[in-house]
Amino acid sequence: MLEAKHISKTIGDHTILKDVSLKIEKGEVLVLLGPSGSGKSTLLRTLNGLETIDNGNILLNNEALTLTEKSWEKVRPEVGMVFQSYDLFPNLTVLENILLGPIKVQKRDKENVTAIAKQLLERIGLADKAESYPRQLSGGQKQRVAIIRSLVMVPQVLLFDEVTASLDPEMVREVLTVIKDLAGQGMTMLIVTHEMNFAKQVADRIIFMDAGEIIVETTATSFFTTEAHPRVKQFLSSLT
Ligand code: ATP
Ligand code: MG
Repeated sequence: MLEAKHISKTIGDHTILKDVSLKIEKGEVLVLLGPSGSGKSTLLRTLNGLETIDNGNILLNNEALTLTEKSWEKVRPEVGMVFQSYDLFPNLTVLENILLGPIKVQKRDKENVTAIAKQLLERIGLADKAESYPRQLSGGQKQRVAIIRSLVMVPQVLLFDEVTASLDPEMVREVLTVIKDLAGQGMTMLIVTHEMNFAKQVADRIIFMDAGEIIVETTATSFFTTEAHPRVKQFLSSLT
């Protein structure tokens, strides 16, 4: 479905992505791991057109995306992205935040998307927060709203960049549960996380990056066993 083919990116004399290729199949959950500075966020951002590349191609359903801002505007609702910082608009209510994309960008019918947005809020247990402002929510609640804001656009694939990294431990689980539920429903996702237990539970495949390069690509089961690459072993032991 979503594919990167031999993409590279250099800033000055610093190679940030080096001949990276990956493919996310429909319904698949791909987890991207790697040490800090290995290029995970940059890679995610290139898949969403937020970052330019020097070489290679990004393809959605086998169609190469040209890197003009105009064409990305059309693609971006298809490739949803949730970040570590929730980026909700503070002066808009939860519901207004969620409706902004569908109404302003996608020009969908307000009544119809409002009904869908409310259903989604219900599903993540935040129906009573529709009229609240972001400052009135906990971090975990804000992050769940940010996920809904992407989902309401009906993306073909969702990219998550360390969405629990700035949350208190007790809020991490409620956000991970939402993502696990999405996986159970067959949502196609690419997830960057440093929650290894979550990665183990949710991943179909794991990709491991180091210094801008993909060095391991394997099933979740084999990634966490002793067959792991020496660099992976070092990474995993550095976490404990
Ligand atoms: P982390 O786990 O800390 O989030 P990451 O794997 O997401 O790290 P990136 O944020 O993608 O890593 O950064 C990869 C490399 O690219 C780093 O060395 C970073 O310093 C560099 N980098 C990223 N953006 C820029 C930029 N705009 N200008 C210069 N260097 C950049
Ligand atoms: Mg990052």
